[in-house]
Formats: sequence, C-alpha cells, structure tokens
Amino acid sequence: MLAGRRFRVEFTDEQAEYGEQIGAVCRAVWNTGLEQRREYRRRGGWMNYRPQAHELAEAKGEHPWLKDVPGHCLQQTLMDLDKACRAHGTFGVRWRSGRRWAPSFRFPEGAKMAVDKLNRRHGRVKLPKLGWVKFRQTRSLAGEIIRSATLTRAGRQWYVSLLVDDGIAAPLAHAAPGAAVGVDRGVVVAVATSAGELVDRPFVTEGEQRRAVALQRGLSKAVKGSANRTKARAALAAVRGRERHRRQDFCAKAAHQLATDNALVVLEKLPVKNMTRRARPAPDPDNPGGFLPNGAAAKSGLNKAILSKGWYRFERAVQSVARYTGTDVVKVRAACTSQRCSVCGHVDPKSRESQAVFRCTHCSHTEHADVNAAKNVLAAGLAVTACREAAAPAGAAGTPTQEPAGNREGLLLHPQTAAPAA
Ligand SMILES: [Zn+2]
Repeated sequence: MLAGRRFRVEFTDEQAEYGEQIGAVCRAVWNTGLEQRREYRRRGGWMNYRPQAHELAEAKGEHPWLKDVPGHCLQQTLMDLDKACRAHGTFGVRWRSGRRWAPSFRFPEGAKMAVDKLNRRHGRVKLPKLGWVKFRQTRSLAGEIIRSATLTRAGRQWYVSLLVDDGIAAPLAHAAPGAAVGVDRGVVVAVATSAGELVDRPFVTEGEQRRAVALQRGLSKAVKGSANRTKARAALAAVRGRERHRRQDFCAKAAHQLATDNALVVLEKLPVKNMTRRARPAPDPDNPGGFLPNGAAAKSGLNKAILSKGWYRFERAVQSVARYTGTDVVKVRAACTSQRCSVCGHVDPKSRESQAVFRCTHCSHTEHADVNAAKNVLAAGLAVTACREAAAPAGAAGTPTQEPAGNREGLLLHPQTAAPAA
C-alpha cells in the first residue's frame, strides 16, 4: 500500500537557500500558469497541462532562471495546477502569495533516489540538484519502495515527505471480526466511544496559551515589514507548530487504537465546512433593516473548538489505519444523536441536561452525554451495514464500501498522470 513517511530535514545553509529558490520559481510557474488558464477561460477556451508543459520547456531558453531549478518540480507544479483547476474550477484556485504560501515542491521518480542510513538517528536521500539531503530518520525505510519525495517548509523547518510502497497487502478480514464501535466527536471531549471511553488530551499548556496571546499582541503592534514582526511571527509559528504536532499525535494514536480493536468503526458525518463557516447576522424582526446582535461570536467559539479538536484529521487518520487493519469505516448522519436515548430511543432535547450529562425524560436512563451519543452512532452504523448485507447477494462479501483513505500528498490517485512528461 502507498503510505507517507515524513521526516524533519537538516539542510545545509546553501541547501536551505536553494530550497527557497526552488519554491519561489515553482510559485512563479503556478501563478503564471493560473493566469494563463484564467485568460483562456475568459475568452471561452481551455488550457491544459500538455500545452503548458510544452510552453514551459520553450520558456527555459528565454529565462535561464527556470533552468536553475529541477525541471521535474516545475512539471509537477503544472500537474498540481491542472488537478486543482479540474477539482475546484479555474477561478476557484488560489494564487500562491509569497507571504501565505509555504514553499513545497515534489520530486517524482522516487525509484531512482538513493537513500542511506547515516547513523542511528539520521538518514539521507539524494535529490536532483539538491544533492544529499540529511533528515532525522525516525523510522526504518527498509523494504519500502520510494515513489516520490516532497519537500515542504513549515515555519522555519523543512520536512521531506516520502511516498512509499510498503509492500503490505490489505488484510482479507479484521483480526477481531464482529467488534464494533461508535464514535462521537464532541467539543468538550475530543473522542467518546460507545464502549464508554473518553479520549482526550490537552494540545496546549497554559503557559503556551499565554505566550501565544502575548506574541499575537506583539505581532499586531509591530510595524509591518520590520524585523521584530518577522521574529514574532516565527515565534508564534513555533508555538502553533507544537500544538499541531500534538494534535497529529493524538489523532494517530486514537485512530490506531480504534481501528486495531474494531472491525467496524462508525463515525458521524459532520458538515464541518458548514459549521465552521462564519455565521451571518440574523435580520431583526422588530427593526427592519437592522440586525440582531449576531451569533458570530458564539459561533466562532464553537468554530475554534471544533477545529482545535481536529475532527477532519481524525477521520482521515482512522481511514488511513483502517486500510491496514481491514476495518470497515462507516459514516452516518449526525441527526439527533445527542438528543436520542440509547436505551429506549426516545428523542427529546430536554434529555440533554447539560453539556456532559444525558438523562432520558422518558425512562430516566442516565449517562455521559457523549457516550450516549456514541451508542446512537453505533446503532445507526450497524443499521447501515445490516442493510448493505441484506442488499448484497449471499457470498458476495467484501464489497468495497470503504472510502479511500486520505490522500496525504495529493498525488496517490492518478499514478498515470504522475509520470513525467517526456
Ligand atoms: Zn430512555
């Protein structure tokens, strides 16, 4: 199976500088390519990858700076642009601004890359024009075939993501058939299971929170373009980076545990996008043309809570591990899961006594509100799988109902287009 391996890179100063240069050229190619596509669209035409790649090759004669960077990275940039335009529409694709966009570029032809282990902690990979790139090798790559390498800078730190084929085949059946769990993703507790487990961890310490607020304040006071501002921004990025890493760690561990223990994991289908969209102020019925004091503030609190628990990341993590354990991941609609009694099925908003306590108004069943919701999620998931089995003809088990796992590098899906153009 294809999997991503991400390592922290230890560039030399020249390499770091060259990395920035490659990123800048890729960005220029992206923006130029996007402008050209938009111009074509405005005139009612279409621009595609092949003619753009051809023009890029010709442009190298006129603009020698295009030749200073690995040509494959530029081709990959045009391919990514092509894919983005197909997925989001030519006018839905964003410009890559020098400020917001973190440099990221991909080297295809991983099979030709040499990888060495330097010592217990470090390895190195040879990349075109960059030469040997040293990285912190936190896991073995033995027996894995490299497909491609992507270099990305996050804050001040560079990372290399190796897309590898680990040679592991998908299991035919889960090790614990019949074991099933429902998961409720809450705001107070990150993950509650139908088995009654509440899994959570803090992602920022109080000290870090204070520091982040102070840095944010310093940042807003600093003069634009000043050295202080750059410094404050880097420091803030470092704090946020630590939080992000802890979140990743939490998701990976919780997902691994759930998928290893269960042949069926039921998740809520959450309209995260809609819920996190900024709330529009409601018109005031007593004052035409006026608006009620809007719910935006309350909503933004919820937005932050939802996002900070990393729901989407968690879902992807479960699906990613599920490929290896043979777990079936089912998503069900989240309607009424928090108001329904998991024992008698009675639905009443009043049953939810508080954020944490559920007490049924009909049978007075009492439970942690999130666990009760998780049980409802599981029941809905079991109903879905039962329907599926009833619909499928006997003996035709193993229907590919599982959604494909998250495409980490954004390049897994079209191996045929990943081949470099001649
Ligand atoms: Zn009840």
